[in-house]
Amino acid sequence: MNIPLTRPFFGKEELEAIAKPLQSGWVVQGPHVQQFEEKMARFVGSREAVATSSCTAALHVALAALELQPGQEVIVPAFTWVATANVVEFLHAKPVFCDIELQTFNLDVNRIEELITERTAGILPVHQFGLPAEMDRILFLAEKHHLWVVEDCACALGSRISDRHVGTFGQAGCFSFHPRKCITTGEGGMIVTDSEEIARKARILRNHGASISDFSRHQSENGFLLPEFPFMGFNYRMTDIQGALGCAQMQRLQWILHERIQKAEQYFEALKEIEWLRLPVVPDGMLHTFQSFVCLFWPAEPSWDNLSELHAIRNRLMHFLQKQGIATRPGTVAVPVQTYFSKKYGYQPHMFPEAYIAEKLSVTLPLYAGMTEEEQNFVISQIKRFDFKLRKTAVIN
Ligand SMILES: *Cc1c(COP(=O)(O)O)cnc(C)c1O
Repeated sequence: MNIPLTRPFFGKEELEAIAKPLQSGWVVQGPHVQQFEEKMARFVGSREAVATSSCTAALHVALAALELQPGQEVIVPAFTWVATANVVEFLHAKPVFCDIELQTFNLDVNRIEELITERTAGILPVHQFGLPAEMDRILFLAEKHHLWVVEDCACALGSRISDRHVGTFGQAGCFSFHPRKCITTGEGGMIVTDSEEIARKARILRNHGASISDFSRHQSENGFLLPEFPFMGFNYRMTDIQGALGCAQMQRLQWILHERIQKAEQYFEALKEIEWLRLPVVPDGMLHTFQSFVCLFWPAEPSWDNLSELHAIRNRLMHFLQKQGIATRPGTVAVPVQTYFSKKYGYQPHMFPEAYIAEKLSVTLPLYAGMTEEEQNFVISQIKRFDFKLRKTAVIN
């Protein structure tokens, strides 16, 4: 067996879709990107959607559109993909890391307020692995302290709190279409917002700061004239080939979400009796869409004394599964202790214990739309075969 961590789902609809821009000859941002944006806005229930070349680009543009200033601070979770913090650095602002809750892998909302200073401009919560962050508490704090909120929804297309989609709680939400995410355009991202002002600025910033898009300009009578440049922008445009692919993937989205949730339920059912494995937690009222099914290797309560031993056995588990042809990965990274951030700001593991433990003990299991029952049963049976002993006295309880 060879079971990848994830696998994008493409069919003949995707092949037909990407042929269209190739046939028309218009391959940069154009009508298909616009269609993709309209579909996304309709799906999440936002007024505007602005496609970009990645979620990292979307976050960068969103923060620039909100006029984040050098020296200002943004609160970001300590356990996330590095991009969440890097975009703050791009604008010469400071990411202020907030530890997570180990149960949910999301921001620990009880620790946010103590991090707010007069330099704080906004909060950048992540809906980690597809589980919505506690947006009511985050919005309450943001309002109280006059901060903006930009949601990193890279992993959470389709995730909801009650009936409301992630991405529609803050001033803007940013999605990813990298192949590790729910639907994919190869690379790609999208900003959703209800603010016409943010959307207008984002459209300008993704296109070199030009006042008008190339496609609109080519359709106008004065298309031979170049645009005006009100801002210093980026080239963060999505190609029309990706836009067409995104439209085709949107048609499958409900099915993909259904598949992921259903396979997550299979894992819950089959793995709940393994006492050394902590399964993901889904709080009431939240729709988790399982971009990743992330467990914790938990044969004993972790402490600074036993963490390196537990980590070594977690790695043995991952190695054992790899030898059976099963891919796994840690959930994501404890960002503040990565060399760049720890060198620049002096962050140490003990300042973010939950994020650090999450990085050392998490295991993501394979999960994708189209995963067969045979494949999933094989993963389950191999996990159950894993055998290990703790060095110290038996602490399994
Ligand atoms: C994947 C991911 C990103 C980056 O998305 P790209 O489209 O690859 O730029 C940002 N934040 C989180 C939480 C992610 O998981």
